[in-house]
Amino acid sequence: MNGDVVIVGSGHAGVSVAFKLRALGFKGNITLIGEDIYLPYHRPPLSKKYIANLADEGRLYLKPESQYRSAQIDLRLNCRVNVIHRSEKQIELEDGQRIRYDALVLATGARARSLSEEQGGRAKNVHLLRSLSDAKRIQDAFTQNKNLLVVGGGYIGLEMAAVARSLGLQVTLIEREDRILGRVAAAQTAAHFKNLHQKHGVRVLEGVGLKYLEQSNDRVEKAGLSDGTVIDVGVVVAGIGVTPEVKLAKEAGLQVANGIVVDHAGRTSDTAIYAIGDCASFAFRGQMIRLESVQNAVDMAEIVGRSITGESVRYDCQPWFWSDQYATKLQIAGLNLGYTQVAVRRKNDSSLSIWYFDQERLIAVDAVNDAKAFMTARRWLSTGQSPDIDEIANESLELSTLTLSEKTDLVT
Ligand SMILES: Cc1cc2nc3c(=O)[nH]c(=O)nc-3n(C[C@H](O)[C@H](O)[C@H](O)COP(=O)(O)OP(=O)(O)OC[C@H]3O[C@@H](n4cnc5c(N)ncnc54)[C@H](O)[C@@H]3O)c2cc1C
Repeated sequence: MNGDVVIVGSGHAGVSVAFKLRALGFKGNITLIGEDIYLPYHRPPLSKKYIANLADEGRLYLKPESQYRSAQIDLRLNCRVNVIHRSEKQIELEDGQRIRYDALVLATGARARSLSEEQGGRAKNVHLLRSLSDAKRIQDAFTQNKNLLVVGGGYIGLEMAAVARSLGLQVTLIEREDRILGRVAAAQTAAHFKNLHQKHGVRVLEGVGLKYLEQSNDRVEKAGLSDGTVIDVGVVVAGIGVTPEVKLAKEAGLQVANGIVVDHAGRTSDTAIYAIGDCASFAFRGQMIRLESVQNAVDMAEIVGRSITGESVRYDCQPWFWSDQYATKLQIAGLNLGYTQVAVRRKNDSSLSIWYFDQERLIAVDAVNDAKAFMTARRWLSTGQSPDIDEIANESLELSTLTLSEKTDLVT
């Protein structure tokens, strides 16, 4: 197929679709535009090995620059797309230059939520973590300050706490909800990780919010917490979620609802425009969802690449995710959305798996230092098989011997 494909966003999703198109034999022009200044990179290591000084910058890059050239992908970095002119099938860059497209792919990702200005979110030592530039600032801040306050007990906050402890910082982590990981995991998973962090010396405060950050010369020195305590602070990292980057899509009149709404082939409400990765909202088990994961970025990129090259495709989303904290590896298969019961399979203190069911149907697993449980769960989820709940909780029974039943009653 020929024609002009323009991709907005040079993150994992944007890069994946560009190379997928070439792998599928697409011969037309591919322009990949990103506002980041760096060659496209992996984000997951930023909150793991990179800030801990265990990964070189060079190892973060998704591809060497030469591969973009040899694949004839016109990569334009430090370049922002300001407008989509749908009737002319053109995008407009911030310098006014226009580029025509036959197919446009929005891979604009998400932005980290910031603390409000009133809370002190603009102070120089208050950081967010989304980009390599953010990570460099945090890395630098960690060498100069020894008291870290992490705001938010989601995966980014927990990974930051772990990395900071490995660098010898004193860490307090606050979570305003009743428990950490409240939005994404069961109480059993959360309890395991709370215990892990406490063992490593992190002060984990649940049900405690941030009231104010006291500043002097634009730098935070103290934090007032909702339980009335005031703590000394040298650096703050807020991990309080992300918002999808939908500005371009919204202004162009595309359907947007917590993400750019797409159909099973990744098409937006304009059939010449696709959306993939963190910015895209799609149907999953009867609900519209957005996923913030590498798996989703890569798999949606493949679907859209195939769609652009004329294949009839349908995104059969099989979510998986991971998080590394200290020596603990959490691997998540499936999505626990709407779970009604949980079974815990405990091998020992550091290795367990938490199995989520919607009634009798397996929908997700959190595997903590248990690659076998993760791989088995992925296989069962992909084939629609569910183990018996009582059997799965009995760790003396081998996974391969469990009674499985087929549950195909969920809307997909
Ligand atoms: C610190 C961190 C740790 C993570 N850890 C994990 C993990 O362990 N496992 C996992 O699966 N996932 C993890 N993730 C999530 C994962 O990295 C994302 O889901 C994935 O990178 C999404 O890719 P994307 O291409 O959709 O979006 P992004 O990577 O956000 O890329 C979008 C790009 O588009 C650019 N852009 C936006 N608007 C415009 C415009 N108008 N013009 C030009 N450019 C534009 C943005 O600047 C950005 O560079 C992590 C993310 C972070 C930040």
